[in-house]
Amino acid sequence: MAANIIPKETIIVDNVLRYPPTGLKVIVVGAGLAGLLAAAECWRKGHDVEVLEKSPTFSSIGDILSVGPSAWSTLHNYPSMVKEYVEVGIDALMTPCHLDGRYAMEKFEFECNREGVAEHAAYPIRIVGMNGRADVANILLNQCRRLGISVTYGVSIADYADEDGSGVAISDDGKRYQADLIIAADGIGSKSCKLILGGPVRPVSTGYTVYRAAMTSADLHDSPLLKQVLAKGERPEGRLYLGKNRHIVVTISQRLLSFGITLPDETSGIAQESWSSTINTEELLAKIPDVEQLDPLVVELIKNLPNNRIVAWKLCMRNPQSKWSSEGGHVVQVGDSAHSYIPTSANGATMALEDAISLAECLRLGGKKDLALAIKIHQMLRHQRTTLIQRVGLLNRAAWHQDRTDTIMDIVKLMPLGKWVWGHNPERYVVDNFRKAREHIETGAPFENTNLPPGHKPETWTLEGEVEREKTGHVFDPAANGDWGVC
Ligand SMILES: Cc1cc2nc3c(=O)[nH]c(=O)nc-3n(C[C@H](O)[C@H](O)[C@H](O)COP(=O)(O)OP(=O)(O)OC[C@H]3O[C@@H](n4cnc5c(N)ncnc54)[C@H](O)[C@@H]3O)c2cc1C
Repeated sequence: MAANIIPKETIIVDNVLRYPPTGLKVIVVGAGLAGLLAAAECWRKGHDVEVLEKSPTFSSIGDILSVGPSAWSTLHNYPSMVKEYVEVGIDALMTPCHLDGRYAMEKFEFECNREGVAEHAAYPIRIVGMNGRADVANILLNQCRRLGISVTYGVSIADYADEDGSGVAISDDGKRYQADLIIAADGIGSKSCKLILGGPVRPVSTGYTVYRAAMTSADLHDSPLLKQVLAKGERPEGRLYLGKNRHIVVTISQRLLSFGITLPDETSGIAQESWSSTINTEELLAKIPDVEQLDPLVVELIKNLPNNRIVAWKLCMRNPQSKWSSEGGHVVQVGDSAHSYIPTSANGATMALEDAISLAECLRLGGKKDLALAIKIHQMLRHQRTTLIQRVGLLNRAAWHQDRTDTIMDIVKLMPLGKWVWGHNPERYVVDNFRKAREHIETGAPFENTNLPPGHKPETWTLEGEVEREKTGHVFDPAANGDWGVC
């Protein structure tokens, strides 16, 4: 491990305590969730960091996502961000429903907030089940700005290089941005795959498309049912409607309402992997079979959604990537660029943010001298965990789409998560395992990751193999491999 750097002074900005400077210059490509937290965490760990983003300005596109406690395990280090997080959180209860709107079981808390379960990784902060995607991006951006991190919009990176002991990000207009490390946080289809893997990672269609949108409750127009629910002033609700070959997720809160329906692909080819491929209300209603049998509240919500702004996202998956970094270790991928997820994994954003925390600490412990080693260790500590969560997404999708409406309760109980997901502290994990991982790399000493379900034996799998298993009804059984419990 790099020798301790003795601080010459104590640096505190916006009440965030910074580690002494490491001399590492880092450029983050992509001001999405992973990129912005990577920037904040790199700053906190003493690295010199800036961010480049393709969009011309901050984008408020997007609806809802779930960010678990492990991703927020660093939140307490940023007191101003804690306040903003509390203001924008949607502390929803989950409600599994039949498609016609009947509750299938009592509303329940997200797993990490239930009585009697283990302490989660962000304790004592109350971690909410749902967030607006733009809200999370905004609070992370605000934090970067308060720390004085430069975020430059309108820079689209077309290519990456690892040369002469540096990483280089090359923009569309040929400008070269050079640093000790380039963090490619540019999301799915990252341009860094060319350098790291020799070409793009092939997206494989899952056979489904999700149609999704969000709106503020202030924008509701003709909506007696929704207004009735909101007038009760109850806790926000995340409704999960399960039915044959489709599921619907609806969020109802005083501030934000969201809708998403996953349906089998059809041939029109409108849907893409893009937040800007959109359809209108009539087109969406025409795609939903038996719409007249659907919960009237859902139909009302669809009719209120901002017209022409319903995203049609083709659900693709990519096989687990064997490598996340270039040969020299000067370009590394984090978040979706390293591992993308389908929404039913419910943990894509969480894994992306965990990456950011892990990487910044690996860089601190490796220092400039052992940068390449630190990058290897980061991947070694993260790969099995992120890959297992990818597999869970497929399992959930298969479970939610079975025609077992009488046994929704059983399906919900099957949704695997467990303490291993939300009890994990990625920064602590690096501190505890960096040396052991280094010995493994340098001497072949045994090393096993413990950020998996206790007792879990990692398995190699491919997307194609899982799709075949699903056809024969033999999806993998998490309970048979490790402890997915909550205590
Ligand atoms: C605008 C937007 C809206 C989203 N809305 C939702 C949502 O509602 N629900 C949900 O579950 N997930 C949403 N996601 C995806 C979700 O944020 C990610 O799956 C997850 O949080 C992992 O984050 P990430 O930072 O790895 O990727 P992303 O959040 O996708 O961030 C990648 C960033 O890199 C930038 N970028 C891409 N290419 C380049 C390039 N060549 N040069 C420079 N910058 C580049 C992108 O503009 C983006 O800001 C959205 C993503 C985006 C970009």
